[in-house]
Amino acid sequence: AQTETATATATETHCPYCALQCGMSLRPVPGGPPVREDGSEAAGGIGAGPGTRAARTPVEVVERPGFPVNRGALCGKGRTAHALLEPGVRLTEPLVRSASSGLLEPATWDEALDATASALERVRNARGSDAVGVFGGGGLTNEKAYSLGKFARLVLGTSQIDYNGRFCMSSAAAAGTRAFGLDRGLPFPLSDVARTRCVVLVGSNLAETMPPALRYLTELKENGGRLIVVDPRRTRTAQQADLHLALRPGTDLALALGMLHLVVAEGRLDEEFISTRTSGWEEARRTAMAHWPEQVERITGVSVPELREAVRMFGDAPSAMVLTARGPEQQSKGTDTVSAWINLCLATGRAGRPLSGYGCLTGQGNGQGGREHGQKADQLPGYRKLDDPADRAHVAQVWGVDPGVLPLPGRSAYELLDALGGDVRALLLTGSNPAVSAPHAAHVEERLRALDFLAVCDVVLSETAQLADVVLPVAQWAEETGTTTSLEGRVLLRRKACEPPEGVRSDLEVLNGLAARLGWEKGFPSEAEEVFSELCRASAGGPADYSGITYARLAEEDGVFWPCPQEPDTRPDGIGRGSEDTGTGVQGPAPKRRSGTGDGERGSAGVRHPGTPRLFLDRFATPDGRARFFTALHRPAAEETDAQYPLLLTTGRVLAQYQSGAQTRRVAELNAAAPGPFVELHPQLAGQLGVLDGDRVAVVSRRGRAVAPARVTRDIRPDTVFMPFHWHGEGRANTLTNPALDPASRMPEFKVCAVRLERAAS
Ligand code: SF4
Repeated sequence: AQTETATATATETHCPYCALQCGMSLRPVPGGPPVREDGSEAAGGIGAGPGTRAARTPVEVVERPGFPVNRGALCGKGRTAHALLEPGVRLTEPLVRSASSGLLEPATWDEALDATASALERVRNARGSDAVGVFGGGGLTNEKAYSLGKFARLVLGTSQIDYNGRFCMSSAAAAGTRAFGLDRGLPFPLSDVARTRCVVLVGSNLAETMPPALRYLTELKENGGRLIVVDPRRTRTAQQADLHLALRPGTDLALALGMLHLVVAEGRLDEEFISTRTSGWEEARRTAMAHWPEQVERITGVSVPELREAVRMFGDAPSAMVLTARGPEQQSKGTDTVSAWINLCLATGRAGRPLSGYGCLTGQGNGQGGREHGQKADQLPGYRKLDDPADRAHVAQVWGVDPGVLPLPGRSAYELLDALGGDVRALLLTGSNPAVSAPHAAHVEERLRALDFLAVCDVVLSETAQLADVVLPVAQWAEETGTTTSLEGRVLLRRKACEPPEGVRSDLEVLNGLAARLGWEKGFPSEAEEVFSELCRASAGGPADYSGITYARLAEEDGVFWPCPQEPDTRPDGIGRGSEDTGTGVQGPAPKRRSGTGDGERGSAGVRHPGTPRLFLDRFATPDGRARFFTALHRPAAEETDAQYPLLLTTGRVLAQYQSGAQTRRVAELNAAAPGPFVELHPQLAGQLGVLDGDRVAVVSRRGRAVAPARVTRDIRPDTVFMPFHWHGEGRANTLTNPALDPASRMPEFKVCAVRLERAAS
């Protein structure tokens, strides 16, 4: 939509960063001169001047109060996001590594695409299709994620595709699927958080990662609700809590088991809910009863009185939620840990009921949609499974191929990165910067260097792009139209607000160009709306059904919650017929009859599914409609402390930076607010080591050493140190982290590893 403002026409769109996908508008800078790609002012508007490159009118972010999730509020990252569009901070022409100089040098698009296609083909011919890998990202739009999966499996014929979302919320996704039969981060709108009576926030620092969402917790408390925060650090979020449980990193599973033990012991079970809407309770009960509160206190460091208080607050509340984020999820037992928190919800009847339930606060901009549409190693679009014959047949029919040509599941993200230079010899990477964000990052960097060929699509010359043989500069959020799916499962239209620089192409155009060069004769769509329409057909009838959604509808309604099946009689090709019963058992509101009265409904005949803001209210998406308890005993982290490594390291984020920092480190205001890494440690520990605030300290793990200034604070446990992970170089936190993988989700253990601390030379 275009909004007329006093000064210029603004385009309504969404933030490029986190999964909250805040609504914002972009408007041409009032009176702002067009800018050439070298950053200089152009004399006369777009394209001015013979022999000069196209000039673009700069845009700026302005509030969009009408979008209900953030109601105009933006954090500093969103507020400054237009800075990423400036020519000076981003790539504007392809780069190819010169055989003679060994340096990345400017090239034409034809040269760059030819070099990429011929290298991929060379590797494929010499070593087979699986010697070519593809690595995607959770920030890619739905259309890009979908196209990347299709490109990998059809054009390259490889099974070796995964993405950085594996490092984000994959444990929550696995636990949600096994409990409820379906993974949607939040099975209810965020606004429900303000209206429930108790929230247990586990391992989320919402105040720094998505500040506009903090207002839901503020409203919760204003409404008389209670907030419990589980976090080893007294973060800005924990400071808002009625009760802060500062557990030892890696012990969330034991904490949830201890709470369930007390729920049973104190008679707080919802027996009727357990008997009518769940299965597997008896084993869950036995497991919880084996975890005595005193034992849980020894494991977690959370005292028995604190544990009892948490159970009392949660149990007394007439409605309650557990929300997890990366804290419990990024562990080598992350899936079992999330399952234990889900068990707590199920045992107390806090799931599948209004204002109650379990939800995951997904992190990346399209963390939800990015995991639905086929860039995961084991997945086809629409949450369909690569090893399910019916799912393969459905997607193959949409793609116009025989199901037999689709590869089987491949390696997960870290396993794929670990195989680079081994049996995977070439990699096409987009929307990710694993040289900073992957665990054991020095090893990953070494593997990237060991490749025969690396092509990177990116907006900026990230640390990973610097290792590439070919760098393809791609358009970004405000320069192209596409859809994302927010952490609520709300599908959103990100509108194009300005032209990309002349030397830049979209990821979809890159895939189109490569497909043509690699002999893919069926054509590869490069228009986002066309891709979305195909994506909807691929998802029809599946768990994440988008088939009732169109760009026009997204524009009209400002977002639609999936599942939203195409209702019978409205789809000309018949795909999606019968999808009223999607087979998922997902409960959604009854379809509305089109009214044509201007109340948001369109058309003259048939029905339009309204989308599904709340899931599971009548039944869960399992075959029998019951939620499943899934039980596991507490077990220690993959790496325990010892005499050599006596401390625990946990990693996380800061307010002014986003993920690997490749974008936000290039925004002056954000960089000034958070210019570099630091090591947070307790004064007791600092005293033992003779470290003062600001001293340089080295954190050493079994994988390497990172150096950064000390930040001494009482807001962390004395046995734990914290580092943010947004930087490369000597302060790279992921040099230290442990790639031990969760057996179900293949999530690495970012949140806990054993380290020691040393004073470092200044
Ligand atoms: Fe953007 Fe997230 Fe900040 Fe909202 S909270 S403005 S989506 S980074």
